[in-house]
Amino acid sequence: MQEYKVDRRGYYGEFGGAYVPEMLYPNVEELRNRYLDIMHETSFQKEFQDLLKDYVGRPSPLYLAKRLSKHYNTNIFLKREDLNHTGAHKINNTIGQILLAKRLGKTRIIAETGAGQHGVATATVCALMGMECIVYMGAIDIERQAPNVSRMKMMGATVRPAMSGSQTLKDATNEAIRDWINNPVDTHYIIGSVVGPHPYPDMVARFQSVISEEMKWQLKEHTGNENPDIIIACVGGGSNAAGAYYHYMDDKDVRLVAVEAAGLGVDSGESAATSVLGSRGIIHGSRTLLMQTKDGQIIEPYSLSAGLDYPGIGPLHAHLIETGRAEAVSITDKEALDAAFFCSRQEGIIPALETAHAFAAMDKIKYKKDDIIVINLSGRGDKDLATFVKHL
Ligand SMILES: *Cc1c(COP(=O)(O)O)cnc(C)c1O
Repeated sequence: MQEYKVDRRGYYGEFGGAYVPEMLYPNVEELRNRYLDIMHETSFQKEFQDLLKDYVGRPSPLYLAKRLSKHYNTNIFLKREDLNHTGAHKINNTIGQILLAKRLGKTRIIAETGAGQHGVATATVCALMGMECIVYMGAIDIERQAPNVSRMKMMGATVRPAMSGSQTLKDATNEAIRDWINNPVDTHYIIGSVVGPHPYPDMVARFQSVISEEMKWQLKEHTGNENPDIIIACVGGGSNAAGAYYHYMDDKDVRLVAVEAAGLGVDSGESAATSVLGSRGIIHGSRTLLMQTKDGQIIEPYSLSAGLDYPGIGPLHAHLIETGRAEAVSITDKEALDAAFFCSRQEGIIPALETAHAFAAMDKIKYKKDDIIVINLSGRGDKDLATFVKHL
């Protein structure tokens, strides 16, 4: 039984689906009809696996964090996605999607980005494949995230500012969708998380599932058992968490912990804790939990960490949380900052601010001394140094 995988209609329980305007229907339908066949082709798998190994640097290590383990009096392993090329898990997905785009005969790639991390991962694979790359980014985010804008341009991408609305991620996504409607034949839209209309959440989860595939044999080597007791991951849209959970979702002995950003506090009005504050609705083409007003206007989320600053969660996570399969924990900016410093000083690893939320969850959850806990170290903190130094 695969209770937590997507069904044939694109749903996870009551969440998911493909709620797209009619103009977008052919693009999404082409993808839905072709993605599984292409992903199962031997030549696709070979090219994907070769690039993950030689270009991304996989497998990423599974590291027993001895000092953290001692402090918490348990056994903590870190899955080192921070060591991937471009510094986070996002490249696993962009490599997969660009190989798929090539096989669909596409020559032009578009993407949306908030903090710029997904934009950089997309610009990277476009340079690698010699494809045209246009990244939509909110005008305000372009100012806030200047180093990532430079990285994208350095690799030959065009960064187009989204000038509408609040000039952030939501508006960049709207611009990208508009572009896709106008260029249905030659363009593929690379979405950066397990969000959007079916088949995106499933496709992205499958590309990221390499994380838990490796965890299984790595844990077996370390502990003699391929299952941990607990897996902890931060959730923005939910792609790194989906990858870390994927091969364990039907194994109910493995506890799944989903860590959201509480911003200034869940009740502060400045938060991104969607599972607590969200209600059922449709955002970016899927039915899920999202932060909205009574009349369905999206509430601007807030988190110090740009990668968790999203008003929804992917439909898979809505389903995991609503059915009780995953435990949701919310962590404030302050708690995440403290955890980032603690991890840096205990292990000599500076985590991304997003990832620091996952570390902070150790102070909130129940666990036992003998437990084997895996924290998915989704990315490195170089990009967040300007924020960290303000709190030194
Ligand atoms: C983008 C990002 C996230 C949040 O995205 P998910 O899709 O929820 O994984 C988390 N950590 C890092 C390092 C990121 O760059």
